[in-house]
Amino acid sequence: ALTDKLTRLVKEMRGQARITESNVQDMLREVRMALLEADVALPVVRDFIARVKEKALGQEVLGSLKPGQTLVSIVNRELAATMGEGVADINLAAQPPAVILMAGLQGAGKTTTTAKLAKHLIEKRKKKVLTVSGDVYRPAAIEQLKTVTKQAGAEWFPSTPDQKPLDIARAALDYAKKHYFDVLLVDTAGRLAIDEALMKEIKDLHAAINPVETLFVVDAMQGQDAINTAKAFKEALPLTGIVLTKLDGDSRGGAALSVRQITGAPIKFAGVSEKIDGLEVFDAERHAGRILGMGDIVALVEQVTAGVDMEAAQKLAAKVKSGDGFDLNDFLSQIQQMKQMGGLSSLMDKLPSQLTAKAGSLDMDKAEKDIKRKEGIIQSMTPLERRKPELIKATRKKRIANGAGVHVQEVNRLLKEFEQMQGMMKKMKGGGLMKMMKRMGG
Ligand code: GDP
Ligand code: MG
Repeated sequence: ALTDKLTRLVKEMRGQARITESNVQDMLREVRMALLEADVALPVVRDFIARVKEKALGQEVLGSLKPGQTLVSIVNRELAATMGEGVADINLAAQPPAVILMAGLQGAGKTTTTAKLAKHLIEKRKKKVLTVSGDVYRPAAIEQLKTVTKQAGAEWFPSTPDQKPLDIARAALDYAKKHYFDVLLVDTAGRLAIDEALMKEIKDLHAAINPVETLFVVDAMQGQDAINTAKAFKEALPLTGIVLTKLDGDSRGGAALSVRQITGAPIKFAGVSEKIDGLEVFDAERHAGRILGMGDIVALVEQVTAGVDMEAAQKLAAKVKSGDGFDLNDFLSQIQQMKQMGGLSSLMDKLPSQLTAKAGSLDMDKAEKDIKRKEGIIQSMTPLERRKPELIKATRKKRIANGAGVHVQEVNRLLKEFEQMQGMMKKMKGGGLMKMMKRMGG
């Protein structure tokens, strides 16, 4: 029935919006591919695509957006809404100490996240935090928690491998009550795979300590398998939240959508480094862009169409494609387009987080000033110099530097950068933004 409706709608819209059935299907196929490539589990992809189709049916193609862009925008919003639903900080609404139970496979990042959360709760929520390890199977695990707890500035409750996890947890809870801790974080034993005995153990633990939060810690790199793990933990425990770890890795993080859908629990935090401060509040919108592998492409496309001289951009692309020299005029127009798009910082916000994480240390204000200086330098050149940068030798450099009010070294730096860009443009052969926009139907 859905397909029928879609077909009818597409027919109705053919005149005004120039949407075609193959258009929609092609786009949905691309979205499906993108989700599968991001390792979203197949059943979750199917479900999601069906929801998007339904949403797309009632949607008008508005403004200057093309049908393809409208669809991507719907997909993006639906992804963000699904993953962002119910997101909130750690719930501490309990008679203190608020107990937080950490669950997940071995190596998922439970122990690391326990310490990260301790730090978060101390610094952001001003809480007095105690941690304890119920991982009695690997002696090193208890020591590991002790070490990272110290780094977090929290207190660690000792346990030993000869104790029973249940006894450890009860003793820690007792201690936390007596010493007025606000929060008790209970780290648990890793499971290499879903293991009946260990599942029973954590269930019993849950029943004994009555946690206000039961967090499922899951490795973003886990991919398709995440769905089975999530199912097993959801069946065993009433999960209240998810922590997605290792988002600093290469994965597109499709596990987020799978795990969110399977458990129904909100994704509260993201682990973004091995270090103790590598924890971020989960940002669903940014993550949607990452899963689709293109940042907030829709906003970017809108910004581009609004701000950039399309003709100039097209000319530039054609020039590079035809092998004509990329000169300083083109370099200048690139710099100016960058400015029109609302500056570097707003552009950076729209790129996938893998990219921006690497550039995270950049000072954006400084970068924008830098752009203005570069613009000034090129504008101090004659048209001939811009077309033939190789003419710019010592005397010309001095004149240009004077004109722009900068040191000669800065002119040198710009010329070097231009050369690098020129090399890159040759390699790109007109790809990049233009190609991307064409694919979006722009
Ligand atoms: P556990 O077995 O679930 O307790 O997992 P651990 O906390 O011991 O973490 C397993 C490995 O993953 C360790 O080497 C951690 O340093 C690493 N790790 C945990 N979280 C992150 C993260 O967000 N990013 C990165 N890069 N590594 C992480
Ligand atoms: Mg551990």
